[in-house]
Amino acid sequence: MTGDSAAAEGDRHTRIRDVSLRHISVPLIKPFKTALRTVETAETIAVVITDGEGRRGYGEAPPTLAITGEQLEGIAAFIRRASALLLGQEPLRLEAALALLQRGAVGNSSARAALDMALHDLAAQQAGLPLYRFLGGSRDSCRTDFTVSVDAPERMAQDAADIAASGFRTLKIKVGLGDVSLDIERVAGIRAAVGPGVKLRLDANQGWSAKEAIRAITAMEDAGLDLELVEQPVPARDLKGLAEVTRSVGTLIMADESVFGPQDAMAVLAERAADLINIKLMKAGGIRHAVTICRMAEACGIECMVGSMIETRIGITAAAHFAASQPNVTRFDFDAPLLLSADPVVGGVTYEGADMFLSPLPGLGITDLKAEYMTEL
Ligand code: MG
Repeated sequence: MTGDSAAAEGDRHTRIRDVSLRHISVPLIKPFKTALRTVETAETIAVVITDGEGRRGYGEAPPTLAITGEQLEGIAAFIRRASALLLGQEPLRLEAALALLQRGAVGNSSARAALDMALHDLAAQQAGLPLYRFLGGSRDSCRTDFTVSVDAPERMAQDAADIAASGFRTLKIKVGLGDVSLDIERVAGIRAAVGPGVKLRLDANQGWSAKEAIRAITAMEDAGLDLELVEQPVPARDLKGLAEVTRSVGTLIMADESVFGPQDAMAVLAERAADLINIKLMKAGGIRHAVTICRMAEACGIECMVGSMIETRIGITAAAHFAASQPNVTRFDFDAPLLLSADPVVGGVTYEGADMFLSPLPGLGITDLKAEYMTEL
């Protein structure tokens, strides 16, 4: 066999042979409520990219209309169009394959993320490495927080006490719904219920104005409620307001909905509009841009958290591999799969309470999806 035909033979095994879609639907254990929305069922589009050897790379894209503007039908249509470009491509020529996805369309960040993570999974499998090592990382575990949905103060205090009693040492408290004094009451009730040893991070999901945020956070500081950080206090596009809040309070302020891609990160970093950035693959459009944002932030001395939408363990496994691979990621918000009433994924990241462990298998370590939760598209 000549060198050229050996290469062609290799290509036949590694080139993308098929891209398929499934709709996954799993009810949540109880409704997930934020200042933006209430979710009762996890809906997502799973994408499976298969190479010539039958290796399968997995990705997913949940439709999060209130944040990314995407819906199920649009995600499926985007992935179908992009699939045609990917057939016959080499996953290990990742930059070329990902560049194809950037052409001729804007937005669709979750749909792009689904394809990006499946390509990363497949490329890492072909390289024989777990994805976090393929990305240059060495950590193979992390620890997640757990979310307290926004609700009446007494209900949130009880939920927080139950979650802390089950072993979670960091709680993410959803606020920003109703007036500011109600939020102060919510957080005071939770601090009284869980005691001083538990970290409290708040997420207002854009629910406050800058003035309200400064009033709420200052009052909580004065009351000694000991907040680790406050996420996205003001509307996503109000970067001046975000910067004003960041300058006016002692508590760390984290940008979430204000930062989708690298250009958004550049704006926040240049203005020093936040102390921290929450990176999500579904906003960044996948791992490639998530790495860029993380390194830009690192160069500016800004640490990152990695979080998620309401996702299954497909998206969370990809996010956890990315997060673990980056030393500048110091916080992890990966409780979404724990909110689902059933787990449609076989393999991938595993949970022991708040502790999460990455699979040593190549790629994401996901081996199958359970048929009972999905419809072929
Ligand atoms: Mg958030």
